[in-house]
Amino acid sequence: MKFADLTDLFERISTTTKRLEIRALLAEHLKGVSEQDMAPMVYLLQGQLRPEYEGVELGVADSLARKALASASGASEEKVRAEASRSGDLGTTAEALLRSQGKAGGGAPLALLDVYRELKEIAQASGEGSQETKIDRLSKLLLKASPTEAKYLVRFTLGKLRLGVKEMTVLDALAVVYGGEEPRKARTVIEGAFNVTSDLGEVASTLARTGDLEALARLRAKVGKPIRPMLGEREASLKDVLERMEGRAALEYKYDGLRLQAHIPSAEGAPVRLFSRRLEDVSAQFPEIVRELPGALTVRPAIVEGECVPVDPTTGELRPFQEISRRRGRKYDLERFEEEVPVRFFVFDVLLAGEEQVLSLPYPERRERLERIVKLGDRVQLATREVVDQVPEAERFFQQALTDGCEGVMAKSLAEGSSYRAGARGFWWIKYKREYTHELADTLDAVVVGAFWGRGKRAGRYGALLVSVYDAQEETFPTLCKVGTGFDDATLESLTKQLRDKQVESRPEEVLSTLTPDVWIRPTLVLELRGAELTLSPIHRAALGRVREGYGLALHFPRFTGRVREDKGAEQASTTEEVVRLYQTQVRRAAEETSSEGTELKDTPPQRPAEPPPKGPF
Ligand code: AMP
Repeated sequence: MKFADLTDLFERISTTTKRLEIRALLAEHLKGVSEQDMAPMVYLLQGQLRPEYEGVELGVADSLARKALASASGASEEKVRAEASRSGDLGTTAEALLRSQGKAGGGAPLALLDVYRELKEIAQASGEGSQETKIDRLSKLLLKASPTEAKYLVRFTLGKLRLGVKEMTVLDALAVVYGGEEPRKARTVIEGAFNVTSDLGEVASTLARTGDLEALARLRAKVGKPIRPMLGEREASLKDVLERMEGRAALEYKYDGLRLQAHIPSAEGAPVRLFSRRLEDVSAQFPEIVRELPGALTVRPAIVEGECVPVDPTTGELRPFQEISRRRGRKYDLERFEEEVPVRFFVFDVLLAGEEQVLSLPYPERRERLERIVKLGDRVQLATREVVDQVPEAERFFQQALTDGCEGVMAKSLAEGSSYRAGARGFWWIKYKREYTHELADTLDAVVVGAFWGRGKRAGRYGALLVSVYDAQEETFPTLCKVGTGFDDATLESLTKQLRDKQVESRPEEVLSTLTPDVWIRPTLVLELRGAELTLSPIHRAALGRVREGYGLALHFPRFTGRVREDKGAEQASTTEEVVRLYQTQVRRAAEETSSEGTELKDTPPQRPAEPPPKGPF
């Protein structure tokens, strides 16, 4: 195939923005493309050299392209710059300059594959002298190109092709060409193959080679090629969730972190790769996960999916998602951040285990496989889950998830057809989150009733404290939360000393707690805390039964403000009455914001999809 055939297609496509017209032009063109040319053509069409997840970039800056163009056209760099700022597009300038100077073309037509190879060489040039190499190669290529070819070459190298050909349009066009009588059915098969490989070039060239849709069904998930993630729907209540799942579902903690798809190759020492939800390679940002994963799995190669969440290293408690963003996109100082923002990887699915494509198994079998192959370690853990068939059970699990620092639950269908639907959003997974995520306006003054010994660098000191509010009616101290955040090491050291003579052998009678800390402490010391919100808790005892039978209230994401309330005795700590009032205000505020369509809410109450799908998790 000639490169000019592709640039002709570009010219035609650039005259329209209508998806149907683009599809028709593309389909017409695709019919004649050979197997060899197919993948490069599909990549170039999208302004890429390789599938997007590989992140291959040409590394050609404006200044570099201007130099190459000046050299190819014989115009001075000043002239190229002036013309480009007039036209606003260096591609158009390239076309005009080459045309007016009559320099371009003339020789043998450029072959698509030669251009593709040359562009790859340009992309690969790196290190010392690479800029000169890039300029030299590009200018030679431009010398051989026609004015129209040069226009697109320049736009391509600058990453400004912008033809508006979306992946989905290419899939549509392939379905028209290879779908025979049933393009709709073909479209589903083709998209399915794309979802598993994330590589349009591979899908298109497989079709060009075999002309057979069946061949696509044989494309397999492979280590190193990210699978497009399965996504969940929402429901308005846990009752609706259970109904949708025909009365029984697995509930998993919905961790609030970063979704990672981990690819672990079979060869010893071969690199583990981590892909984000958007299929970017983020392996470099989580070196400790990369290190630990090979030893955490009994089977290789493997592809597992999970959520990467910041944790408090001394208590193991989950931390707010925002903390992980400090590590995202980082190139330097990774070791420091590994220590400062430690993370844990909670795996929730397995897509490849050894040679077996686990992807197509129903969820219960995948989960069972996952439990079998994961060796729990410090950084790799399984997502907490429970199978439920009653609403109260589901509620209790949901509240427990919140108490443990999660944002809700992910319900997973146990049905026969609950295979991993790569790239699809459906009712096989249903998310159910807490409805408000405000920072509590008020601080709370809580009294220390127990402590947990720290680990790691906090060894020998308290790592977290168990704190209570005061129930003035009963004259008791029911627990409100466990708090390990907001203390610097010096404070923890001094608190440990200060509280030493307040330690007691067993739970003081007036303290109400279902948790047993490492040491019990007589309620005397009051600390000021902040938190995200108050939540119902099956564990903490503050205001037990006041909002809901069997539940207390807990402070979510608590942190010490740094203020020890030396002016307050234990009985002056915040009371259960105050906590109940605060909870009610919070609920009221959430309701008000919802009714006035408060866009601030992270996740407004789940809405039903426009067209309710049929019963069962379809
Ligand atoms: P959302 O981003 O609100 O649409 O929720 C879906 C996301 O929840 C997924 O993409 C994952 O990143 C995350 N998640 C956390 N825990 C789980 C879990 N147990 N199963 C599936 N997804 C989870």
